[in-house]
Amino acid sequence: MALVLAIAASPVMGQEHRQLGAHEHGVGKLNIAFDSGQIFMEMSAPGADIVGFEHAPESARDRATVNDAVARLAQPLDLFALSEDAGCSVAQAKARFVTKENKEHDSHDVTGEKEISAAGHAEFHAEYSFTCSDFTAFDQIVFTYFTVFPKARELDIQLISEKGAWHAEISREAPVLDLRGRTQR
Ligand SMILES: [Zn+2]
Repeated sequence: MALVLAIAASPVMGQEHRQLGAHEHGVGKLNIAFDSGQIFMEMSAPGADIVGFEHAPESARDRATVNDAVARLAQPLDLFALSEDAGCSVAQAKARFVTKENKEHDSHDVTGEKEISAAGHAEFHAEYSFTCSDFTAFDQIVFTYFTVFPKARELDIQLISEKGAWHAEISREAPVLDLRGRTQR
């Protein structure tokens, strides 16, 4: 229970302090917490998976591509199909593109700025919360995310609920997460 609250209270903290560049292209990360009829999610996905590039948007076309991706990521029910009978609605949704250029450089980093950005990775970060009327009817999530973003291959998922914490890997080939009996005691 303490862990659920910790995740719920600071959805951004983990993302802010995580090193960019640790990701594997094709593989996004998603944390999900179920707590008293609410669901909290935080996702990070490589730029490669979402828009096909990881540099700061330079051209008008890049900017339009990034803006379109952010808008799509801000519509979580188009990415994650939640059990209809659970009656879930979006309480909050936000997404942004994070590149090396808008991160503070590590003090141990002695390479030049240009080199860092050329070799750097970039990610989309998103946070969501949902309110559900009936958690007992919550039995699965279908990841339409893979249809919306054809370059994404996998989501590495950490889940936590009153039932405990567990890990799941969801792939494009099998985009369904079975949650029967897992969301609450
Ligand atoms: Zn990358």
